[in-house]
Amino acid sequence: MHERNVIPSTLADSPLTGNDRVKYEGVAMMPSVKVVKIGGQSIMDRGRSALFPLIEEIGRIKDQHRLLLTAGGGTRARHVYSIASDLELPTGLLAALGGYVPRQNARMLQMLMAEQGGIYIMTDDFEKLPLYFRLGCIPIMTGMPPFGYWEKPSAEGRIPANRTDAGTFLSAEALGSTRVWFAKDEEGLYEDDPKKNPDAKLIRRIGAKELIARGLKDLVIERSVLEYLTRARYVRELQIFNALVPGNLTRALAGEDVGTIIYKD
Ligand code: ADP
Ligand code: MG
Repeated sequence: MHERNVIPSTLADSPLTGNDRVKYEGVAMMPSVKVVKIGGQSIMDRGRSALFPLIEEIGRIKDQHRLLLTAGGGTRARHVYSIASDLELPTGLLAALGGYVPRQNARMLQMLMAEQGGIYIMTDDFEKLPLYFRLGCIPIMTGMPPFGYWEKPSAEGRIPANRTDAGTFLSAEALGSTRVWFAKDEEGLYEDDPKKNPDAKLIRRIGAKELIARGLKDLVIERSVLEYLTRARYVRELQIFNALVPGNLTRALAGEDVGTIIYKD
């Protein structure tokens, strides 16, 4: 028999596979940070007509908030997913390939916002955020979570379940923010895709569990995000709004209920 020679610690004798017995109150890292995703297909791909007014609006309000912008992928990411799927490549590779596009978008966004203090950051640069905010910068990064080859198998198909909505949500959760914002091209969440069904009704407020249970055919946000919201420790709600309407971002960040709020129920 070997005697265990371990430093006394609550989890020393635990295989870490059960419910941990350590009760903790989480410390929110930077709860004042407002993480905003700039949609890939919905905003960036529309080019200057969509992006320039939004950038100007961000410039006008940037000093009122600590903004962390994330970029979506959009049509170019969909293109690589479709080619790679046709070539029967696995999810992990798709996630790795799909990650390049939102990075391109984040870099473009940074260049366009350089005069306002836009600064490109990596996904593990969170510890530098206090400095960047003190300098009046607007950190900008990819919305894609850095799972790449380690992307979890999807419930169905091979498109990575964690894309830029999920990465944005998980960033806000990591920072301890209570709300997270998604700037897209529709008023919010509808009962059906409003581009395909113009009669679809807008849902103003809904709980994540309730929304999952409704089993809507198509959503304005990645399904994985809803599931994460049900077990989030910090994020209480997410807001999806139409950033093509001038003033919506300003109002949403000021706490107004523009668009759709999906809350933790
Ligand atoms: P992003 O550019 O942020 O990745 P997406 O283009 O992936 O955004 O998602 C937004 C799009 O989702 C909308 O433009 C809309 O056409 C589509 N959509 C699908 N289902 C819905 C729904 N139930 N409600 C609203 N929009 C929906
Ligand atoms: Mg999307």
